[in-house]
Amino acid sequence: MPGFEKFGELEKAEVQSVLDTGVLMRYGFDGMRDGNWKARELEKSLAERMQVNHVHTVSSGTTALTVALLSAGIGAGDEVIMPTFTFVASFESILAIGAIPVLVDVDDTLTLNPQAVEKAITAKTKVVMPVHMCGSMADLKALKLICEKYSLLLLEDACQAIGGSYNGKPLGSIGDLGCFSFDYVKTITCGEGGAVITNNEAYYENAHKYSDHGHDHVGNDRGAEQHPFLGYNFRISELNAAVGCAQIKRLDEFVEIQKRNYTILRDTLELIPQVTFRRVPEGGIENYSFLNFFLPSEEITRKVHKALGENGIDTCFYWFDNNWHYYRKWEHLTNLKSLGKLPQEVKNGLPDYSKSDFSESDHWMGRTISSLIKLSWTEEEVRNRATKMVETMKATF
Ligand SMILES: *Cc1c(COP(=O)(O)O)cnc(C)c1O
Repeated sequence: MPGFEKFGELEKAEVQSVLDTGVLMRYGFDGMRDGNWKARELEKSLAERMQVNHVHTVSSGTTALTVALLSAGIGAGDEVIMPTFTFVASFESILAIGAIPVLVDVDDTLTLNPQAVEKAITAKTKVVMPVHMCGSMADLKALKLICEKYSLLLLEDACQAIGGSYNGKPLGSIGDLGCFSFDYVKTITCGEGGAVITNNEAYYENAHKYSDHGHDHVGNDRGAEQHPFLGYNFRISELNAAVGCAQIKRLDEFVEIQKRNYTILRDTLELIPQVTFRRVPEGGIENYSFLNFFLPSEEITRKVHKALGENGIDTCFYWFDNNWHYYRKWEHLTNLKSLGKLPQEVKNGLPDYSKSDFSESDHWMGRTISSLIKLSWTEEEVRNRATKMVETMKATF
């Protein structure tokens, strides 16, 4: 997955052109910048590639989620439905605005189970936030129908699935809002960065203003600009955006390499009768950043994961035991361990997760192994790796 494996001349040239002018900020300094507007350029490229009207880049994927929620007017006490399997950023972005993360089961897509989503809806629910984990997507058709039925927003977290698609549309562009991360380990990276995409002009207007202290960005005198509402600083720097400008040009090339490596691995593992694969919703095409598969039981999966590691296959994840990606280890959320006092809305509204039943999620995640797909692997390396994985598994069963 990580785009840093392929840093080259293009990335260097983009960064150098920013350093040459010395303007590292995305706003202002028009005279000095010699035509360099890297954040704007990245937004234009993303809008084209993702087939949306509006893109606003920010400092991270986490802040993209926060800005996306706020831009649609979500705030204190509003409930946001999110999956049990995701990165902690999902609930961090929700809590940051005083809203309430409502955890919901995942199914064999490893993303939100639409039936469980519908059951979790209350009078306070405002948003459904599917997270397209490990390269593949949620059942967006079913989720869209639910959102229409209950007048909810659909916010796609496509941070781990950039370049994938659903019924011919880029992931991230299907909901009311979509978010990407360009952190250091993502398919395309700019060190730290993120983006909010939408076809809704009002959300976009809110997003760029909020992420820059409320600046309305009218005219070319920053000091004289108006502040129609309260904001914050979630700006991306021109240096980071410059790397992004190079990487977005290479997204399709990266996805092709991932597809080749994924396919070799999958074709080999398919020969093992005990291995089954994660379900990809009909009409979906993965970005191939991970190969995700199920084994027959939690016990076997733990054993296989350990054996793979011992045999030098260090790119396989067992999320079930992971501190950052699965609800079982989120005791800081369950116990609301925060540095300062949390809003009363959150204290009153957060479900008691120590009593929740997520046995459906456990059923799938306890048996899931995800192999990272690297860009730097040669075909021969992938074949050797696949053979080694099969041998290891057979010896463990
Ligand atoms: C990486 C990631 C984020 C957060 O992105 P950062 O840029 O690291 O803040 C959010 N959601 C998912 C699913 C991610 O993988």
